[in-house]
Parts: sequence; structure tokens; C-alpha cells
Amino acid sequence: MPTPLRICQVAAEVTPFAKTGGLGDVVAGLSRQLGREGHDVRIFLPFYGHLARQAEGYVPVSSLQRIPLWMGPRYFEISVLTCKLPDSEVDAYFLVCPELYAAEGIYQGDALDGLRFAALVRATFECCQRMQWAPQILHAHDWHTALAPLYLKTHYSWDRLFDRTRSVLTIHNQGYQGLVARESLEGLGLAGHAFWLDGSDLQAGLVNFLKTGMLHADMITAVSRTYAAEIQSAEQGFGLDWLLRARSPRVQGIINGVDYGTWDPVADPHIPHPYSARDLTGKREMKRALLQGAGLEDTDAPVVGIVSRLVGQKGFDLCFEALPALFARRDVRLIVLGSGESRYEDFFQWLQWRFAGRAWFYRGYNNQLSHWIEAGADLFLMPSRYEPCGLNQLYSLRYGTPPIVRRTGGLADTVHPWNPETRTGTGFVFEHFTTEGLVWALDQALDAYADPAGWRQLQQNGMAEDYSWEVQTAEYVELYRRLTG
Ligand code: ADP
Repeated sequence: MPTPLRICQVAAEVTPFAKTGGLGDVVAGLSRQLGREGHDVRIFLPFYGHLARQAEGYVPVSSLQRIPLWMGPRYFEISVLTCKLPDSEVDAYFLVCPELYAAEGIYQGDALDGLRFAALVRATFECCQRMQWAPQILHAHDWHTALAPLYLKTHYSWDRLFDRTRSVLTIHNQGYQGLVARESLEGLGLAGHAFWLDGSDLQAGLVNFLKTGMLHADMITAVSRTYAAEIQSAEQGFGLDWLLRARSPRVQGIINGVDYGTWDPVADPHIPHPYSARDLTGKREMKRALLQGAGLEDTDAPVVGIVSRLVGQKGFDLCFEALPALFARRDVRLIVLGSGESRYEDFFQWLQWRFAGRAWFYRGYNNQLSHWIEAGADLFLMPSRYEPCGLNQLYSLRYGTPPIVRRTGGLADTVHPWNPETRTGTGFVFEHFTTEGLVWALDQALDAYADPAGWRQLQQNGMAEDYSWEVQTAEYVELYRRLTG
């Protein structure tokens, strides 16, 4: 039996406590599985305003109260609450500091976000010290906590407790880098450590959190193999490709896992009609229920579902032309759940009006409805411009809802093109980010839907894929072990 590892996870999002997208799901899913495998995992995140409003269930940690924290000239006091990550024995530690975290929402989108998340990282070290807990792995996620490897080398290098701590930075989305003004250095406690930062950024008056993490992490992971390669290219590197290429022996792609405890149609608590690959009766009932819920008539025509943040990355610009043309040519239904930039919201609102009875748009965030769409739709659309990993296509596979995706990032790694001849493949994949590409894939999908036997095989191929955390965690553990020797 290999010895268990001590792993510290530090992140802005951890589902179900704080989530806006895949980041929270990944931190929770990975930690839960690591815990199940016997590792000592501790997760650190802020006690956000929305958590404070329903504070029952959190227990104060007596040794972690009123911890003094100097961020440059500013003084904060941090106290810690804890509870178990649901469905696990993993301890989550919540940093209470109303001055930093009481506001509504996880991200404020202002200049203070840098300070808030830097303080999260610093406080995590302070807690480890007070618990006399020496993590072997310090795992940071995205720009928010990307200063962790640097603080390890600077503020905490004196402490033998962290002698054997190795840092991992996972890039969930390189499009968000955490840029703050150079003047923030003092408030981050880094004024005396500027030589560790990228000189050209400083000259330009900037500090880049993600870049700093990439410079100093012992290992960098991206959330799929294709994405790990893409972000090393000038086209998709968001200006950091050169750095990743320089560190390429230390860059690895690991696909996210899925929590099949929540996302499996056999046991999904959110859907009234469970079903399995062997018996898809419940899926037909879910389709009826979904259509009814959306106020659309029951039909055998294929239903295309979308659940997404409505932002440029997700590629819905292609829909502006493709979807009206599709409605004009083919008998199809569309059900969309999402919110984000107004041009996409306006477009889907317009589509609902223009193709009344065939298109329906729910603007907002609705977890229950997202499960209903996965279960009740026939096809799931993700035309992403780029997609680091993507979770919804993995859910769709499991729900027998073949995904239509663009060949990018994690979509390229996880959706295999359907071949009606050999009856292999799990979905529909188009290459070029063009309206023609999307229309081609939609037509392929609708043609395939017209052949019930082939369709059933396609659904079953997807449902048989296994992207569980049980499988995906093994790659992280191997990486952790390599780092810790
Ligand atoms: P990203 O992290 O880029 O948003 P992912 O596909 O990795 O994309 O993860 C998105 C997660 O957020 C999924 O769990 C998805 O179901 C959920 N999600 C996105 N938008 C909504 C919404 N409007 N309502 C409910 N869940 C949503």
C-alpha cells in the first residue's frame, strides 16, 4: 500500500460552496476522490458573503482564530470555519474575513480581487503553520491562487515545515490571467520580491498572477491534453505560449473527471425519470417532461440542448446565422439555458420569439434545469471557440445525449466523431470555427438521428465512456508522486 500524500488544495471555487463553472466541480471532484483513496486532503477557500448568510453547519477551528495577516501595509485578521466536503471525509477550511470576502459574489471584478485571492493563499500557509501540517503538494488553481508557488519560495521559504512542499498549478482557463497594476505589489507583500516577477510586465506597469504562477510552479497542468498543447501555440496562448513552451517538460494535460454520483441518469436525484443505457424509456419521458416544462408541444423531432455561460469563448457567434437557417430547413427544437453577454442573451431571446413553439430560452443559472436538459434533449451543442476541458459534453455522453462540438481542447480529446458505416464514435465534431462547419455538424447529427438503430448505438457508445474521477485522479496521483519523489 503506497503511503498517503498530504495535499493542500487552494481555490476560489469549490462546489457546492462556491461555483460559477467547471473550476469548482474539479476542485471538489478531485479532492473527494483523493480523500476516498486515503490521502490527507485539505481544501482552503474564502467564506464568501453568500455562505455567511446560511452559516449553520460550519464549525470554528479553535487553533485558527484571529490569525494576524499583513498584506504589505494592510493588516487583516482571519478566522477559520470548517466542515466536510459533502459525500467525503475531506475537510474544507473557510477563511473568514468580512473585510475581504463579505461582498456578494465570488468575483468582484475590481482591482481588489487580486488582494482578496492573494490573501487567501497567504492565509492558507498561515493555517498550515498553525496546524503544523506539512503539505507535500500545494495545488493551486487558475490565476486566483497562482501566487502560491511564489509565496512558497519567498515568504515561507524560511519555514522547514514547507521544505518538501512541491507546487502544482492547474490552468482551467488561460484566458483569465489576473492582471493588476504594479502599484499593487506592496499590498500583495511582494514589493521586496519584484525580481521574481516578469520584468517586462513590471516595466509595462503590470503584475500578472497566472504568469507568475507559471514561472514558479514545480509543475503546470492544463485540463486536457489538447488544451495543454493549444496554450503553447501563439494563436491560443493568450500571450503566455512562449513561457509554457520554455517550461514544456513541466507542462502536462489531464482531463477533468465527472462526478457520476451527481451526473448519471440512473441515479440523478434531479430528474423524475431515471434511465440507463439498457433501458432508455426514461429518456423519452424526460424529453416529454422537458418539452412540457418549456411550454413546447411533445414531438419526435430532435431536441438540441445548450447549457452554458454565454460568453465569446463558447462560440455562440456561429449560431447567429446557423440556427435561423437550420430552423428554416429542418424540423428541430432548441432549448437553451444560460446567461452572460447581452448579445447572446438577446439572440436566444429573439430566436424564441421568431421560432415560437420550437425554441425556448431560459436566462439565468438553474442547476435542476441543467440536469433536465442533459436528460431530456436528444443532442447537446457546444460550438466552443476554445474549451480547456468542458464538462457538459462529458455529462451529455453519460446521458445518451450525443454532443455536437468543435474540435478544440477537451472537446477534441473526449468526443469521437460518429461514423455511421462502422457505427463507432460518440458525437459530432467540426473542425473549423465557421458557420459552415457548424451547419455541417448539425446536419450530420440530424441525419444520424433519423436512423433509430444507428442512433441507439451512438448513444450507447457515449454512455459506455468512463470519465469518472476514479479514473482521472490516477493521473494526478502519479504526478504528485513523481514530484514528491
Ligand atoms: P465553464 O467552466 O467554462 O463554464 P464547463 O463545461 O467546464 O464550462 O462547466 C460548466 C459547468 O457549469 C457545468 O457543470 C454546467 O452544467 C454548469 N453551468 C453553466 N451554465 C449554467 C447555467 N446557466 N445553469 C446551470 N448550470 C450551468
